[in-house]
Amino acid sequence: MAQLIADRRDVDFVLYEQLEAEKLCGYARYREFNRKTFDLVVDEARSLAIKEILPTLAPGDREGLAFADGRVRVPECFHRPYKLYREGEWTAVTADPAVGGQGLPHLIAQAVGDYHLGANYAFTLFGWSGFGAGEMIEIFGTPEQREMFLKPMYSGRWGGTMVLTEPNAGSDVGALTTTGRRLEDGTYAISGAKIFITGGEHDLTENIIHPVLARIEEAPAGTKGISLFIVPKIWVNADGSLGGPNDVACTGIEEKMGIHASPTCSLAFGGKGQCRGLLLGEEHKGMKVMFHMMNSARLLVGAIGFTSASAAYLYALDYARQRRQGRDLEKSFDPEAPQVPIIRHPDVRRMLLWMKAHVEGMRSLIYYAARLLDHIRCESDPLQRDYWQGMMDLLTPVIKAYCSDKGFEVCSQAVQVYGGYGYTREYPVEQLLRDVRIAAIYEGTNGIQAMDLLGRKLGAKGGAVFMNLLQEIQRVIARARGLEPLAGLAESLAQAVERLGQTALYLGQTAMSPKLRTAFAHATPFQEVMGDVVMAWMLLWRASVAVPQLERLVGPAAGEERGSKIEGHKQAAFYEGQVQAARYFINSLLPVTMGKMTAILAADSAVVDIPEAAFGG
Ligand SMILES: Cc1cc2nc3c(=O)[nH]c(=O)nc-3n(C[C@H](O)[C@H](O)[C@H](O)COP(=O)(O)OP(=O)(O)OC[C@H]3O[C@@H](n4cnc5c(N)ncnc54)[C@H](O)[C@@H]3O)c2cc1C
Repeated sequence: MAQLIADRRDVDFVLYEQLEAEKLCGYARYREFNRKTFDLVVDEARSLAIKEILPTLAPGDREGLAFADGRVRVPECFHRPYKLYREGEWTAVTADPAVGGQGLPHLIAQAVGDYHLGANYAFTLFGWSGFGAGEMIEIFGTPEQREMFLKPMYSGRWGGTMVLTEPNAGSDVGALTTTGRRLEDGTYAISGAKIFITGGEHDLTENIIHPVLARIEEAPAGTKGISLFIVPKIWVNADGSLGGPNDVACTGIEEKMGIHASPTCSLAFGGKGQCRGLLLGEEHKGMKVMFHMMNSARLLVGAIGFTSASAAYLYALDYARQRRQGRDLEKSFDPEAPQVPIIRHPDVRRMLLWMKAHVEGMRSLIYYAARLLDHIRCESDPLQRDYWQGMMDLLTPVIKAYCSDKGFEVCSQAVQVYGGYGYTREYPVEQLLRDVRIAAIYEGTNGIQAMDLLGRKLGAKGGAVFMNLLQEIQRVIARARGLEPLAGLAESLAQAVERLGQTALYLGQTAMSPKLRTAFAHATPFQEVMGDVVMAWMLLWRASVAVPQLERLVGPAAGEERGSKIEGHKQAAFYEGQVQAARYFINSLLPVTMGKMTAILAADSAVVDIPEAAFGG
């Protein structure tokens, strides 16, 4: 079976043609890089993904995890690739070389993630978590804490986690009851039970560093009173050497629908009264610190949705080219006519183009977000930095929710393309579908993302940030208007952008009125339509890059002559794919989005009005 993760041609298109990655080398921080080094990094990432990580996907799922005596054993096949992953320094590619990173742009790291996450994200999460947790220590920690923790975490020698959830504090983080009590030596005694902690215990690393949210005794209620503590599984001495076990016990792991190789752990802190933690940042201000990791994790979860979709699409495409069933429509009643590959059937092509448009739109969006991070990191003008940060904050819930929802839908379509075989374990798409399902739930459910979008992000700076986003979209519309094949699509997107602006304004105002509950009943549909419009923006942007290239390659040819020129020319076919994907999305899907916006503007309140008893059951 083919080993498929991501289409390298498309990765390169987004990096270099759409987002002009080489321009990043103009920033002092990235001066030493060039296209050659970027290519080398992506080649190496791809090679590790295909040769070492992808082969662990199905065996990791089948073998799963072993739990005994508080210890978790990961699938045997994870050990070799994890060693190679560390040796290749893939654990902290964007971190500063001074603290053990490669100093690469976020945009290039995203292309790396395209392959590593797409190959087996249950595996790649082990490498990411040490870095994600370490970043908080880098930004908010004391110099001593940075010295003690950063290098081992960034090198993947020690793992990391993020420890928020408790049985009665899931979405409602502020309800947590884990405590931190000041000790005379300046450390804190940690006590409490946490659940659902990814990578909370495993045998891949010699230590695991848990950033734990807890409440110091006299702290005010709610999220404002929460502090963040660094709680090592094995105590770390001031000189960085390891001490004894730190009274962190894994009391069990979940049996789940998917990601069978990713341990979801229950952790007991201080069961014997001997768990100690170090305060990270200031007392009572832990949420601010944790939000740094949560925002990164939200982008990561969006990327998980997208990369799962990317692999699923490529498998479905490959299968559709090989599987022969039925005859061409025109020869349906001719028993002598040969069976054709299912990619010839209009309904299968519809599924494939739906998947292609979403996968490619999501790739552009996620890489765009990574480029925003590069601007934020490198830009010296504070006003410009603020502009990009606002855009990032606004897009974060959309990326998390839209890409995880659509990622799941793409995987589901892939199963459909395979027919009955897709439902069996013989092919990889059923696992991709199971594994990706959690993405819409963890890191703040998609419902919580929608509330964040409506309640906080839309109104940021009096709505100016949202208007900036619409202006960015208008730039692409203006460019597409100047390209004859795209002029009609540009008009349609312009109408959708206008309607999105009206819908946002209306919903934002309703959210501040007595009809607040009705507004929030429409928060998720709003998040989805905003995601659709953003997709259309990304796809039109791609098409506007492709059209001049197509004209260069195919010239003024029309009709059949043009068709056969494109069919026989790989590059031309790629660019034509961009135009057709934008055309499909804007002409066939965006009208549905317009309808959904009409429904939101009607602000029907059945969801609010229905008495609880009337739900039946
Ligand atoms: C495999 C897996 C891995 C995980 N990894 C981690 C981890 O590493 N660290 C960690 O801390 N946690 C982790 N979690 C926990 C995860 O983040 C939570 O499950 C998630 O935040 C939802 O919390 P909950 O399960 O308690 O659901 P609930 O909060 O009970 O939510 C149930 C439903 O109610 C909705 N809801 C809840 N409150 C509101 C509200 N105010 N308004 C509107 N709707 C609402 C939710 O959207 C959801 O649909 C993991 C979970 C799983 C399953």
